[in-house]
Amino acid sequence: MKTRQSNALRDNFWELPLGELNQQEWEQLCDGCGRCCLKKLSDEETEEITWTRVICRFFIEESSRCSCYSQRTELVPECLNVGQMDIGAAKWMPPSCAYRLRFEGKPLHDWHPLIAGSRVKMEQAGISVAGKVISEEYVHPDGYQEHVIRWVET
Ligand code: SF4
Ligand code: SF4
Repeated sequence: MKTRQSNALRDNFWELPLGELNQQEWEQLCDGCGRCCLKKLSDEETEEITWTRVICRFFIEESSRCSCYSQRTELVPECLNVGQMDIGAAKWMPPSCAYRLRFEGKPLHDWHPLIAGSRVKMEQAGISVAGKVISEEYVHPDGYQEHVIRWVET
């Protein structure tokens, strides 16, 4: 895994290639939408990925944060480690994800808090999953299909 040194934030760092970001810039790139914590289904034949509104049991809706961040990859083996972003990981991230966008060489959306200056535009655009999800604790994996969602933007 790539090691990034902790440094100050540079102007418009989100326009730099992912590989040039320092640790602090890397962390700031996340918009905290929570979409990467949604359960996903993959079609065995087409490999098409669909997202559901079922979310990891460790996601805290009120703060849009992970309750086990430092242990997440041990507790949740399928948890995506964006620090290892590559083409295989990118396809499992939502199209709006800042890491996926930058990995694909695309700019961030204008609602991203780094550009908009707050989370207001992001919330107005309906990007955050808060208030729209159901914990995996309440859904049997066989029932995920009933909770499939489609992204309305991007
Ligand atoms: S989808 Fe991307 S931008 Fe949104 S919370 Fe996950 S890592 Fe951060
Ligand atoms: S372990 Fe944390 S970061 Fe990983 S999917 Fe669950 S809530 Fe999200």
